[in-house]
Amino acid sequence: MNAPLFPLFADLNGRAVLVVGGGAVAARKVEALLHAGARPRVGAPELAPSLRALADAGRIEWLPGRFTPDWLAEDIWLVVAATDDVAVNQATASASGERRLFVNVVDDAQLSRFHLPAVVERGPLQIAISSGGGAPMVARHVRRRIEELFDDSWGRLTELLGRKRAHIRARFPDTAARRRFFDRLLEGPLPGLLRRGQRAAAEDALRHALAGEAPAAAGSVMLVGAGSGDPGLLTLGALRALNQADVILHDRLVSAEVLQLARRDAERIEVGKSARGHSTRQEHIHALMLEHARAGRRVVRLKGGDAFVFGRGGEELQFLRAHGIPYEVVPGITAALACAAHAGIPLTHRDHAQQLRLVTAHCRDSLDTLDWPALAAPRQTLVFYMGVAALAHIRTQLLDAGLPAATPFALVENGSRAEQRVVTGQLRQLAEAAERHRVQSPALLVVGDVAALADELHWFGDAPLHAAAPSLSAPTTTPTLADAA
Ligand code: SAH
Repeated sequence: MNAPLFPLFADLNGRAVLVVGGGAVAARKVEALLHAGARPRVGAPELAPSLRALADAGRIEWLPGRFTPDWLAEDIWLVVAATDDVAVNQATASASGERRLFVNVVDDAQLSRFHLPAVVERGPLQIAISSGGGAPMVARHVRRRIEELFDDSWGRLTELLGRKRAHIRARFPDTAARRRFFDRLLEGPLPGLLRRGQRAAAEDALRHALAGEAPAAAGSVMLVGAGSGDPGLLTLGALRALNQADVILHDRLVSAEVLQLARRDAERIEVGKSARGHSTRQEHIHALMLEHARAGRRVVRLKGGDAFVFGRGGEELQFLRAHGIPYEVVPGITAALACAAHAGIPLTHRDHAQQLRLVTAHCRDSLDTLDWPALAAPRQTLVFYMGVAALAHIRTQLLDAGLPAATPFALVENGSRAEQRVVTGQLRQLAEAAERHRVQSPALLVVGDVAALADELHWFGDAPLHAAAPSLSAPTTTPTLADAA
C-alpha cells in the first residue's frame, strides 16, 4: 500500500503557477489559484472565453502553443496539467519532476505529485478533504456533509479568534490551559451570538471569557420550520439545526422522515397530540423549552411548515424573550407553498390573481372575525389553513359576500407527501365534494381562479379528483351531490 499523502496548505500569494491547458477544467483551476492570490500562467494553443477574458484583463498570462519544458521557468512554484491530451499531461508531469516542481495532473492520481482536495471554505477557515486520489466521489460526498454541518458563522468565529490570537496566548501561555479555555469558549454563548449576527455581543463575550468570568448558560432554542412533510423541503439551516440538537420538541405534523435526519442521540419529544386543551399544551411546551435550555441544552423547537405562519412561533419567542433565553429562527416552507407547488397551482398568475391571502379557519371565532367582503374581492387567491371542519361555513360566507358560485377551489390533502390527494371543483360544490372524497386533515383549501389550473398543471401523485360525478355516462350507483349532502 502507498504511503499516505502529506496534507499541506500552500501560500501561493504572488507566486507564479503554470497551468497547462486552456479549457473549462483549466479555467476552474485558474479560478481557484486566483482566489489564493497566485499568478497563473496558462499554456495552451487556445483559451476558453473565460480564460481569454482574464488574459485580456491582465489577470493571467497566456503562453500560446503546445507544452514545452521552457514553460517551466525559474519563477514557477507549482504546475497543474489540465489538458485532455494524455501525452501532453505526461510530458508536463515528467518535465516537472525533473525540475523538482510539484505537479498535479487533473484526474490522474498516478502522474500527480500533489492533489487538490475538495474544500469547504468559511472565511479563513478551510476544511480540505482528500481520498488520496483514489475516490474523489467519496471526498465530494464528505464535503457535502461538512457543508451542511458548518454554516457561515464559523468563518466569523475563525476570524475573531484569529484576530485575538496574541491576546489569548498571552492570557493562557500554557497550552493545556489554552485548550481548556477554547473548549469552554466554544461550548459557551459565543458561537450562538455569531450565528445570530451579533458581532458586538460576541466580542463582549470573548472579552468576558478572557477576563475569567463564567459564561452564561449556553442553552438556546432554535425555532425551526420543517416544511410540510417531504424532507426535500427542509432548508439547509433546518438540517444544521437538527444535526446539532440535544433535544427536539416537535409537532405531530412533522413527518417521521424529517425526524430521521436529526442527530441520532438527540432526545425527541412529541408535543401537541390533540386539538383539545390548547392552552395547557402551549404552557407545557413553554415549560419544556425553558427547562432544557436552562440546563444548557440546544433545543430545537420543530414545527410543520413555517413557525410564523399559524404556528404560534411568535408566542413562543415572546415567552423565551421574557425568560432571557437566546433563540434563533429558521424559516420553513409553509403548507400554502408546498401544497400549491405539489398540486400545480401557481398562487399568483398574471391572468388570474395579483394577491394572495393566507387565512386561518381554525375555529368559529376566528372565522367570524374575518373580513369576508375583502376575501370575496376578485383577482386574488385565498388559502385557508385548518379549514376541513368549516367548509360549509366558509362557502356560505364567501357566497354571501358576493364571490361567484362558479369560483374554482382545490382541496389539497397531505400535500407534498406520498399520500397527497387533490380535489377540484367549483365553490358551490365545496362541502359535498370534501365529504364525497372524505377529505381529512391536514388539508388546505385554495379558492380562486388559479385553483382550476391544478387540472392542467398537476404533476405529482394522482390527477385531481373532481367534485361532481362524471355526469350522464356515470353508473347510477355513483353518489350524486344530493346523496352526499
Ligand atoms: N405552520 C404550519 C401551519 C400549521 S396549521 C405551516 O406553515 O404550514 C395546520 C394546518 O396547515 C393544517 O390544518 C392544514 O390546513 C395545513 N397543512 C399543514 N401541512 C399540510 C399538508 N402537508 N397538506 C395540507 N395541508 C397542510
